[in-house]
Amino acid sequence: MRGRSRSRRRSRVTLLPEIEVLRKDLEKDVVNKRIKDVTVRSATIVSRHRNRPEFVKALTGHKIQALGRRGTYLVFDLDDDAALVVRLGSQGTLSRETASQSLGRHTQVAATFTNGGALHVVDPAKDGELFVVSRTGLADLTELTPAGIDPLTDTFTWPSFSQELRRRNAPLRGVLKDETFIVGLGDVYADEILWAAGLSGKRLSAELSSQEFRRLYRGVQEVLQEAVKQGGTDEPVDYADDDEYESGGFIKVYGKEGLACPRCRQPIRKDADDDGSDAFFCGNCQT
Ligand SMILES: [Zn+2]
Repeated sequence: MRGRSRSRRRSRVTLLPEIEVLRKDLEKDVVNKRIKDVTVRSATIVSRHRNRPEFVKALTGHKIQALGRRGTYLVFDLDDDAALVVRLGSQGTLSRETASQSLGRHTQVAATFTNGGALHVVDPAKDGELFVVSRTGLADLTELTPAGIDPLTDTFTWPSFSQELRRRNAPLRGVLKDETFIVGLGDVYADEILWAAGLSGKRLSAELSSQEFRRLYRGVQEVLQEAVKQGGTDEPVDYADDDEYESGGFIKVYGKEGLACPRCRQPIRKDADDDGSDAFFCGNCQT
């Protein structure tokens, strides 16, 4: 159990399926709630505002009308043409609490609702961000329009997908992790998609056959849809320290070095990728 609570959520909530799972989960609870009191512990997390009172004033009293997502940003539509934008920190999450629940050690912002309950912004790495803007002003925020494909909402065809891979001509794993190509896959989903497609992450993206492009395209969709369906990579442990990655059964290779490949039973391998991250793969059936 060592390290479980310390790094329970490390590197996962900025992954696209995890954000979408959180959004769907919270939506039921927060829509139609009116914000009563707001507490902000650190000014850094609301640094787009002049100071903490300005943020508190901008948020207090508003009713939440919808909870949407733009790439990996969560956007709460509020009444009176306002919106609360939340970018979770690298280890952050949003947690539903009772109104009387005291703030946890890593809670940076808390909002209570007039009809009971509260929402806490947990941000252990202190690299998240919240701000209130006018809903019409959202269109001017370029960071909310991801440069890459949002594979959960955008429709993209396999010919356009393969055209972009051909144009980039770089090792596949790096291309999949590039946010200007696809949003929010990270190491975990890049490795899972490559396994699903039976492709080595070292292959150059321009050199795939049309059948391989199609396999990769299908892999992106199948892995992400399954991740959302299964509730994301729930309950991972300290995988950065001991490479153990307990998670939903849909994780086939990530963090599973030495275990049998679910397809061919050969041991899963781990190698340092060019960017220094650990790549998990089956050297036998990923070619
Ligand atoms: Zn295999």
